[in-house]
Amino acid sequence: MSMSSPPARLRCDDLGLGPVRHVRVIGGLSECPGCGLYQRLPDLEPGQQALCVRCGQKMARRRRTAPLAAPLAFCISSAAFYFAALASSLMTLDVYGRQRTVDLLTGPMELMHEGWGEAGILVGAVTVLAPAVAIGFMFAILYAGSRPQLPDWGPRILVWYDKLRPWSMVEVYILGIFVAYTKLTDMAHVDVGPAVYLIGALMLTMAATDSTLDTDMIWRHRRIDSLTRSEGGETAAVAYVHIDEIEMPPVDHLVACSACGLVGELSHPVSNLSCVGICPRCEHKVWRRLPQTLSRTTAFLIAAIVFYIPANLYPVMTFLRMGGGGGHTIVEGAIELWMDGMIPLSLLVFFASITVPMLKILSLAWMILQTWRGARGHLVMRTRLFRVVDMVGRWSMIDVFMISILVAVVRFNAMASVTANAGMVAFAAVVVLTLLAAWSFDPRIMWDAAGRNGPVPDGLPPAVLRARADPAVPSSLSPASMEPDQA
Ligand SMILES: [Zn+2]
Ligand SMILES: [Zn+2]
Repeated sequence: MSMSSPPARLRCDDLGLGPVRHVRVIGGLSECPGCGLYQRLPDLEPGQQALCVRCGQKMARRRRTAPLAAPLAFCISSAAFYFAALASSLMTLDVYGRQRTVDLLTGPMELMHEGWGEAGILVGAVTVLAPAVAIGFMFAILYAGSRPQLPDWGPRILVWYDKLRPWSMVEVYILGIFVAYTKLTDMAHVDVGPAVYLIGALMLTMAATDSTLDTDMIWRHRRIDSLTRSEGGETAAVAYVHIDEIEMPPVDHLVACSACGLVGELSHPVSNLSCVGICPRCEHKVWRRLPQTLSRTTAFLIAAIVFYIPANLYPVMTFLRMGGGGGHTIVEGAIELWMDGMIPLSLLVFFASITVPMLKILSLAWMILQTWRGARGHLVMRTRLFRVVDMVGRWSMIDVFMISILVAVVRFNAMASVTANAGMVAFAAVVVLTLLAAWSFDPRIMWDAAGRNGPVPDGLPPAVLRARADPAVPSSLSPASMEPDQA
């Protein structure tokens, strides 16, 4: 991509790199990632949070009083728990005097030895590799945030961290351990190793790191109004205005960075279909909507439906005990837990492994269909449903984790053994494909398709402020009561 291209057509490296005529950055303005409504974002007090007036989506992360010290403390603890968990044993199984001890890595290794390489790599990636990389990235972010001048790589690490974080599934793994433990206790003596408690602690400290980190602090650190770029010896400034100083620009000229939320105004209407440029703040490629969102989501969804059939028809694992036993499917696994009297656990497995994938497939299919039809109904409900689907999807991995643990620990030849079956790989594929489908879907296009993201007629609504446990904020500021045009 050369800079000598005609200025009439914007290219990916124009935004921020090109002269001022291309983009004007607008402070104090924010686009709702759930419905695409542009709103004035007030300065938040610590503990406050802004919610979209139209769909209730969080507009910015909660502000924190100790933006670096608290996440740093939790991040150091996470690193300590992580290494300790890797070095210690997960559980020891005792079958008629014969013992077997496993650790965090045994499950993925055994799956690979049995010929289920993809499943082994997946389990290892989301339980061992992703948490380590996430902790490393977090240290880098905190280091960058502590510098007087934010290093150039700082914003990129933050963007990568947000993309990687959902793949670290420590909290789901804990439940997988719990289900595996319950299944084992009725056949043999099980000793829980220190790694289980350490992973539990790691889950808490990683969640605490995320909830105490003030991402906006990092972005505030990078002042937009002083951003300049040198390109070929020339320095081009990015024009900056605050929304209070100008008239609201036409909505179709506005574009928000999906990674850092920066809003820019272009001199011409922006298409939803092409890349607008590079964000001047975080250097992420800026699209008005996620690229090819409908076709990508549809493709992932169709693939998920294809795998859904073998995932439920074929056995996920075979449990042999003293010559007896046999393979069972996902549903049979949940029923078996119910028969053994472990009803809450059976409901949990049923919900995570059967309800959630079904809910994801049906809701995403409904959203795609309604968007294609340009339907105007249930927009708020659809947007909220998408948030739920996006949030619960990872929990379906419980069964895959449980099988990886059983395969690792129950290896006593003729006395007792567990092997994974093809259904498990198909099921893992369903989980990953539905996750990818949800992450490719941009809920804003539902509002676009309904014609609800045109120019804002009545000025600019302010985002709703919500303060946790703050009685000073009247309840009339709740998003539901302020929604001016709920569908
Ligand atoms: Zn919204
Ligand atoms: Zn950005």
